[in-house]
Amino acid sequence: MVTSGKDKGKTGKVLFIARDLMRAAVEGINLVKKHMRKTQENQQGGVVQVERSVSLSNIMPFCKSCNRPVRVGFSISKDKTKLRICKRCKQPL
Ligand SMILES: [Zn+2]
Repeated sequence: MVTSGKDKGKTGKVLFIARDLMRAAVEGINLVKKHMRKTQENQQGGVVQVERSVSLSNIMPFCKSCNRPVRVGFSISKDKTKLRICKRCKQPL
């Protein structure tokens, strides 16, 4: 979920996270139009929409059971794998 900026309040699937850059790309968020030249790979050229990454500080995980953006905690499951849980309802995200 996006918590600030022009796409505030929108939710989308996280496409990738670049932790070292503190940025993430979210599906359908921060779309920018890119003008493509005609190339060998792209015969048509024209305009495509791409997701530009947003700062990690502007997004938060969205908990479906709480129906709101939440802080994330960690817990270790029975098979010793790390689980991301919602700090509010303790459900795995
Ligand atoms: Zn929750």
